[in-house]
Amino acid sequence: MGNLITEYRCELVANPHSHGSGRYGIRVMLTNDISTVFPYLNAVLDGTWYDHENSIFIGMVRRYRCAFRPHEIQVAANADPTTMPLIVSEVVSQVNQVWEERDGIEPSFTERKLPPVYHIFRLLPRTNCKQCGYTTCLAFAADLRDDKVLLQQCPPLSRPENKGIRRQIVALFPSGLETGGN
Ligand code: SF4
Repeated sequence: MGNLITEYRCELVANPHSHGSGRYGIRVMLTNDISTVFPYLNAVLDGTWYDHENSIFIGMVRRYRCAFRPHEIQVAANADPTTMPLIVSEVVSQVNQVWEERDGIEPSFTERKLPPVYHIFRLLPRTNCKQCGYTTCLAFAADLRDDKVLLQQCPPLSRPENKGIRRQIVALFPSGLETGGN
């Protein structure tokens, strides 16, 4: 059986998890649609979120949190130009290995869906104060949903009096949410 991922391009993208560090996340752009491997990845990887209908899958590949869409993989890694090729190679080889071994894997269609953006948005302060670097709370909510930003990057939410709201937002995510300890 051949590899699922045979051709791709990759680039460094600003990593919202490490603002100002000079390090980056990675976007891998794929030539072919890889969504058929998602149920197999869902069966074997840790920390998964899976929305089968919308072809969104998130899971830990090696030590990297990866968000998959049919033609793209976003890798949350502190990468630089020298480390990017190795990290991408690790992720791609893991996906290809799961694909190679799929006949021995019971695919899992168990869905752990991400919450609707509006459900997150309505819990945010909704002041559009821009302290998070986004022009609107709605844009922040969309990237929080897609694991591209940390909850703690909304300073107003870090205030002690908003602890209950932070918990409500975290509770929207079936597998929890990385909050930096808040
Ligand atoms: S910092 Fe918080 S309140 Fe301000 S725009 Fe961003 S998400 Fe909205």
